[in-house]
Amino acid sequence: MRKKDSGNVVVVALVVVNLLLWLIFGPHNDGSRPNFNRQLMAEIIASTAVVLLACALFLSTRLRSLEAYFGGLDQMYQTHKKAAMLAIFLLIFHFFAAPLNAGQIKPGTPLGMIAFLGLLALVLLTIAPRIPLIGRFTQFAYHKWRRSHSLIGIFFIIGFAHAMLVDPLVRKTTVPLFYLLIFFFVGAASYLYSVFIAEAVRKTYPYAAEGIRRLNGTTIEVALKPRRAKLPFTAGQFAFVRFERDPVLSEAHPFTISSAPQEHDLRLSIKASGDWTQYLVEHLKPGMQARVDGPYGRFNYKAGGKRQIWIAGGIGLTPFLSWIRDFNGQLAGYEVDFYHCMRVPEDGLFLEEVEQAAAQHAKFRPHIFYSNRDGHLSAENVVASSGPITGKEIYMCGPITMMNALQKGFIRLGVPARQLHFEEFNFR
Ligand SMILES: Cc1cc2nc3c(=O)[nH]c(=O)nc-3n(C[C@H](O)[C@H](O)[C@H](O)COP(=O)(O)OP(=O)(O)OC[C@H]3O[C@@H](n4cnc5c(N)ncnc54)[C@H](O)[C@@H]3O)c2cc1C
Repeated sequence: MRKKDSGNVVVVALVVVNLLLWLIFGPHNDGSRPNFNRQLMAEIIASTAVVLLACALFLSTRLRSLEAYFGGLDQMYQTHKKAAMLAIFLLIFHFFAAPLNAGQIKPGTPLGMIAFLGLLALVLLTIAPRIPLIGRFTQFAYHKWRRSHSLIGIFFIIGFAHAMLVDPLVRKTTVPLFYLLIFFFVGAASYLYSVFIAEAVRKTYPYAAEGIRRLNGTTIEVALKPRRAKLPFTAGQFAFVRFERDPVLSEAHPFTISSAPQEHDLRLSIKASGDWTQYLVEHLKPGMQARVDGPYGRFNYKAGGKRQIWIAGGIGLTPFLSWIRDFNGQLAGYEVDFYHCMRVPEDGLFLEEVEQAAAQHAKFRPHIFYSNRDGHLSAENVVASSGPITGKEIYMCGPITMMNALQKGFIRLGVPARQLHFEEFNFR
């Protein structure tokens, strides 16, 4: 098993252990409870949801030490999202499975309702952009969504109060109860850490905006000069950047570092794709002070086999740009076909640097793709232009729709999932 898969395996194992503990140490039906079996099932489902939600809250602490076990922060957020969505799914079952004896509303029941509806609403808001039916009615700027999302822990804690106040069967047990309490504690502590402590204790590096270069109508390159120690990073990693003393830019946003680790300044290539980035492109001035929190991410071609395919879509070029700038005169035995995809030639970024790298390294072969001329790049196009795909590692970064389509295409052509590597520019 690869180290980067072990994190997901642990999450699954924690859920399985919960089920086993209920099976082995669960409560016995002494006849004192009507609907015992239904109550038991409802509680097993709910406790599983608590384990998953606690894992999701723990992953949202962004602890760097966890990255190696998930394959980078962006993949940790994928697990965070999937665990939370599965938990909500289970809570819907719990909501309908839990027996509600007429006239016997327990003190915790209304709390359960509040916790369930709160969690459901916030998770639906999170997935709304990917579900057109909901997305149409919930057009929320990201920073507003993030503010609402940070309320999730409160409903988790209300859920705990509900669980303890509805006279549950679990209170008649020891081991399942102890296990459940551990996860309530881990979830609540992770939430309080993320909301109240993390920003204060997370190490950030002071930088200052030095050079700002407009690359095309929507994209700029920013060179940040270290004010003290340089941020140590590996080519392809990203960081959260915010600018001090500005009402908008003081919110941290993630950007891949497009410079090479040995460079003095940190370079970012930023495309205006929403309110914060648009504001940055219009208002960033040399000398503005920045705080850089990083490095994060495990998108690293050196972890893969020697024969590779790299596919960059639009601004998804940045991790590859850092890799190319980090060649440092040698490709170290790698053989790379690099697909640089953009809509139109005007969107072309750093084409000269890519061509220079090709001139210096015979085994680095760029392929420039303009979708308005060539159509969307497909897995078949890649095979047609770079030969058989067997045994090649494929690294992709770009718009989600593009990466999903290519992923399906490569899998259709028999490429094993473990040879496909992604950098997601979207945590949501
Ligand atoms: C790992 C990673 C690396 C990235 N590297 C680059 C890069 O090199 N160059 C580049 O131009 N863009 C990069 N991005 C995307 C960049 O972070 C977003 O375009 C930017 O944050 C958009 O903010 P906005 O307010 O302008 O747009 P909005 O319209 O508010 O957001 C657009 C999308 O950007 C994402 N986003 C917005 N705010 C945040 C935030 N605070 N934290 C996390 N995600 C957010 C969300 O997915 C959102 O749906 C990267 C994103 C990630 C996750």
